[in-house]
Amino acid sequence: MDVAQSLQQRTGSPAEGVWSAPGRVNLIGEHTDYNDGLCLPMALPLRTRVAASRRDDDLVVASSEGFGRVVRTSIGDVGPGRPKGWAAYVLGVLWALREAGHDVRGLELSIDSDVPSGAGLSSSAALECAVGAAASDLFDLGLLGSDERRVELAAACVRAENDIAMAATGGMDQAVALRSREGALLLLDCQDGSVEHVRAEIDGHVVLVTDTRSPHQLVDGQYEARRRDCETAARSAGVASLREIEPEDLPALLGRVDEVVGRRARHVVTENARVRLVVDALRSGNLAAVGAALSAGHASLRDDFEVTVPHLDVAVESAVAAGALGARMTGGGFGGSTVALVPSELVEPVQARIREDYAARGWEEPAFHVATPSGPATREA
Ligand code: ADP
Ligand code: MG
Repeated sequence: MDVAQSLQQRTGSPAEGVWSAPGRVNLIGEHTDYNDGLCLPMALPLRTRVAASRRDDDLVVASSEGFGRVVRTSIGDVGPGRPKGWAAYVLGVLWALREAGHDVRGLELSIDSDVPSGAGLSSSAALECAVGAAASDLFDLGLLGSDERRVELAAACVRAENDIAMAATGGMDQAVALRSREGALLLLDCQDGSVEHVRAEIDGHVVLVTDTRSPHQLVDGQYEARRRDCETAARSAGVASLREIEPEDLPALLGRVDEVVGRRARHVVTENARVRLVVDALRSGNLAAVGAALSAGHASLRDDFEVTVPHLDVAVESAVAAGALGARMTGGGFGGSTVALVPSELVEPVQARIREDYAARGWEEPAFHVATPSGPATREA
């Protein structure tokens, strides 16, 4: 049953419309978004769909395939940490739109998604942005009408995640779900929110995503701890954010902070440089250079930023051993997914090698997705 049918079955009337938003994979630029830095994500063909109709009151009634019982909550009851669970992502968006001065009322929602949840492919932002798109159209907010308006909607979705779901994430996920263009990666400058659409010349190669299906480990507090280390480093250097530090300024900074904080800063500063390098290499078709930068990025996240886990390291090493030009973990880390640049004829052998190396360790079989740059949040019906 699709989302429109499921909504009609519950409410007895046809849905007013169906909206969708994509998951994303970040090719390079990790843990840079909250440091005013650069990242290069793309929207995935995997999407979250929402069928929606307006209600006359303030109540949001929502169901999501595979996510348990129906949620019923008033927008007026929303606050930090309330409601709990997945409803926070839905209600949070409506709350944030209202906070931004928009006239938003209750909704009937039926949700389904093929973005795996908690795999580092941004199911949370896909959900927020699909709900936000529905609210924008149903309440005539016009927030899908231009890139400027989409920036406003993205900000509301970020507030939902930060202030209501209480997840201290940066703005990359919502930007790519709302502002990307089919066929292009999104170069996002998190300092001023500006974007460039980068058409990658990767003929004969694919971007292969491996969802390691590893349990999220040690996540509590680790993300916040990394943010704090980065802020400490920026403060010690007397700059507003690590974006202002260039690789050649690193030795001076490293002399001024403790060893751990220094390594965190080194990751962020070198990662921004790698994003620039990958954009240039993609534009000129130098795929060997792209691959090398991906692998260098993984080493930096493993050794300096310390956010990888064995499932991620093995998926990366196995991909490269089987012929990938380069590979790295993607997303926040501590589990989730990896991304690899693979010659098309080696996609099968790379998957087989990762599967074998996982099986040899007694790990659950990973899932694979070929990432083709897809379109942003939109109305579907
Ligand atoms: P990621 O965004 O990397 O998938 P997060 O931890 O940020 O991981 O978000 C996952 C959470 O988002 C889930 O625990 C759930 O609360 C919510 N979520 C994601 N997809 C859905 C969905 N289809 N329906 C309901 N909630 C969802
Ligand atoms: Mg998320």
